[in-house]
Amino acid sequence: MVIKPKVRGFICTTAHPEGCKAAVKAQIDYVKAQPHSEKGPKKVLIIGASMGYGLASRISAAYSYGAATLGVIFDRAAAGSRTATSGWYNTAAFEEFAAADGLYAKTVNGDANSKEVKDKVIEMIKSDLGKVDCVVYSLAAPRRTAPDGTVYSSVLKTVGESYTNKTINLKDKTVSDITVEPATEEEIRATVKVMGGEDWKLWIEALKAENVIEDDAVTVAYSYIGPKITHPMYADGSIGKAKDDLFAASKEITEKNGIKAYISVNKALVTQSSAAIPIVPLYISILYKVMKEHGVHEGCIEQMNRMFNQKIYSESVITDEEGRIRMDDLEMQEEIQSEVDKLWAEISTENLSDHADLDGYWEDFYKLFGFGIDGVDYDADTDQNVRIPSVEE
Ligand code: NAD
Repeated sequence: MVIKPKVRGFICTTAHPEGCKAAVKAQIDYVKAQPHSEKGPKKVLIIGASMGYGLASRISAAYSYGAATLGVIFDRAAAGSRTATSGWYNTAAFEEFAAADGLYAKTVNGDANSKEVKDKVIEMIKSDLGKVDCVVYSLAAPRRTAPDGTVYSSVLKTVGESYTNKTINLKDKTVSDITVEPATEEEIRATVKVMGGEDWKLWIEALKAENVIEDDAVTVAYSYIGPKITHPMYADGSIGKAKDDLFAASKEITEKNGIKAYISVNKALVTQSSAAIPIVPLYISILYKVMKEHGVHEGCIEQMNRMFNQKIYSESVITDEEGRIRMDDLEMQEEIQSEVDKLWAEISTENLSDHADLDGYWEDFYKLFGFGIDGVDYDADTDQNVRIPSVEE
């Protein structure tokens, strides 16, 4: 069928298999063309491997070091005239390219928070890989079912007081004020349950208990800090509390299990998850403009390739004083942030296109779903039924 984008709110309900494949190929080609550190992981488990930072981590590990990758995804195959999710198409494409390049790549499709998926992954590591030497934890989800069956939902709210600042309506391209209300204690606790470190710890403990993780393995989970304007909403908000818990989990994993656990603070980028956070998309659109003008803009693949090759697997792991890997180093540079501040203060509906890179925002948004990619014929009849070679449907 001919597949066109259908945007509803923060998401696109269709995805294009050929577009996703071309986007994955472009990321692979990027990594292949970069110099690689001598050290590197050989057997990598990526939890949340189908989109955004997790997919870019998988591609970087596989194509920097020839690493075998086992990915955990939570995606949907096509059904009737409904397309598969873009994460499904990305994973199918990645496995296909990896196989052609002689690389091991298998995937488990299911809820990474569940015991069933953990057991399945452990079984696959035992039979195929022996032990993994690197675990990437890159989940972003609105809810989580905990081991006792309780379903927790996260909220994107402030903590303590409400916060009013500018936000963008991406559809009608207007800037207006938004007030974000504070989360209740219960909402904060639930957000920590969903996006905090509990499940990451459960993963590492399960891998350790079954002896399928090397003693000198590295594990990394992703976080964000950002500038002051986003703090009430992000770093100091309900999601920030969850990220504090994730950071605490990194220390606990290292102390209890001896595995070197890190938080990598990544750059703000358009992904399916960040699009849903109030205030942040306007910040991202301004940031894109400033970073592109300074020639320092990066996407997920540039970030993750740099993280593996220059921060984790360099001579020694490069962190800040608190032990965090800082992939937001370029974003947080004084000259970038002072320009963002100036544009933020001035921005309004009238000057939006001068002050922010809205086209860049939308371009990245459509690309997440495989649309707007050079060389793809979007008028052509396309088969939406694509198999992921290692996943049974
Ligand atoms: P994303 O939405 O692009 O990717 C999230 C991935 O998690 C997807 O592959 C999704 O399928 C998978 N997933 C979600 N729930 C799952 C489940 N239950 N089981 C298995 N897989 C599941 O998001 P992203 O922006 O790449 O976020 C990844 C991490 O990076 C998050 O921790 C996020 O907070 C962090 N981060 C994001 C940004 C940003 O600006 N996008 C910046 C810094 C840090």
